Amino acid sequence: SQTRAARATREWQQLDAAHHIHPFSDMGSLNKVGSRVITKAEGVYLWDSDGNKIIDGMAGLWCVNVGYGRKDLAEAAYQQILELPYYNTFFKTTHPPVIELSQLLAEVTPAGFEHFFYCNSGSEGNDTVLRVVHQYWASVGKPGKKYVISRKNGYHGSTIAGASLGGMGYMHEQMPSQVSHIVHINQPYWFGEGGDMTPEQFGLQRAQELEAKILELGAENVAAFIGEPFQGAGGVIFPPSTYWPEIQRICRKYDVLLCADEVIGGFGRTGEWFAHQHFGFEPDTMTLAKGLTSGYVPMGAVAINRRIADALIDGGDFNHGLTYSGHPVAAAVAVANIRVLREGGVIDQVKHATGPYFQDTLRQALDGHPLIGEIAGAGLVAGMQLTEDAKTRKRFANGGDIGLQCRDHCFRNNLIMRATGDRMLLSPPLVISKAEIDELVGKAKLCLD
Ligand code: PLP
Repeated sequence: SQTRAARATREWQQLDAAHHIHPFSDMGSLNKVGSRVITKAEGVYLWDSDGNKIIDGMAGLWCVNVGYGRKDLAEAAYQQILELPYYNTFFKTTHPPVIELSQLLAEVTPAGFEHFFYCNSGSEGNDTVLRVVHQYWASVGKPGKKYVISRKNGYHGSTIAGASLGGMGYMHEQMPSQVSHIVHINQPYWFGEGGDMTPEQFGLQRAQELEAKILELGAENVAAFIGEPFQGAGGVIFPPSTYWPEIQRICRKYDVLLCADEVIGGFGRTGEWFAHQHFGFEPDTMTLAKGLTSGYVPMGAVAINRRIADALIDGGDFNHGLTYSGHPVAAAVAVANIRVLREGGVIDQVKHATGPYFQDTLRQALDGHPLIGEIAGAGLVAGMQLTEDAKTRKRFANGGDIGLQCRDHCFRNNLIMRATGDRMLLSPPLVISKAEIDELVGKAKLCLD
């Protein structure tokens, strides 16, 4: 660390540019300016290599739910590395951390979820969902049910299956071979696509696209529908209240599995343990990652309800697994993390205190702001729509550029606020205090001004 401390920012940047390919980045332009070098973090703050203190309005990538610098999580990892740093769960073996984690997850997930499969990320979680769904229908004697329906502008990860499930056009264009039997319907984005309809009418209409698609494909061929309860990377799009009940009704009517991607929404983001509870529907599977370990170490999981688990357990070999499925260190950290969220009262705090405070403060500061046409969100997540004319919901022709300018301006002013197209996003660590919320919202407003 002495060598680390002695390195100047420019040196870090030059080495980074020389050897490191960043995810989702235009490396040519990035290397010209150089990346910001983040060197340490505590609570809701980061520090860069020039000593600037930055408030993290995005909890990393929506994942550091318990905040940075938790010694209890570090201690759990340290002790587990000493005791059993690795063993697999493939060939008739298991270990205490993964058993404890599964028991704990069965307690904090809604009734009906008692079984969990582990992986390393949200993308792998959604790959797993595809395998689970196919295995399920084969084992109950309906192998024809193969189509999975997802949504445009949904995000389900960056592996081949995750990107295929996702509805991000730029990811589909990158390579020709996408996974077969995946089809997309439109998203429930009322502000941008609702036209003259009320949000409620529009929510119903977009949900009924699912029914039309099932009828077009034949219900006997449709395995599952997958969606994020609210679209995160798509812009924190909160669907109208009519949307999810109708989706659930349709899935049940045609015997189509309902899969919730809870990678962002899970572990307290909306003030509920899982975001589907905020919207009042009951999924058959849940994809989990990010907040499962608060990003301290990588881990993903799929929660599988009893109906599917019973069929999987009786269905013979499940031909899926990863070297690090149920990794003991990740499992030990996840257990410590979930205890902080539960026993430490973090999620209760989001539901009853900081969540409502954040939503109110944001609206008081930005409702009626000349750039903002809509604020969507609940708990500690929000999406703000950049708009030329809020009354007519007219969007800027160059909204994406304005979003990026706004994001970069925030970053220069030591606030991390993300932009997706013409929507600005906030999703801070769940341990943020009211005073820190004041600072976050104050800086966001100043940057928008
Ligand atoms: N699903 C959702 C809803 C996500 O937001 C993400 C990542 O942002 C993923 C899946 C993919 O997770 P990972 O990046 O851990 O593979």
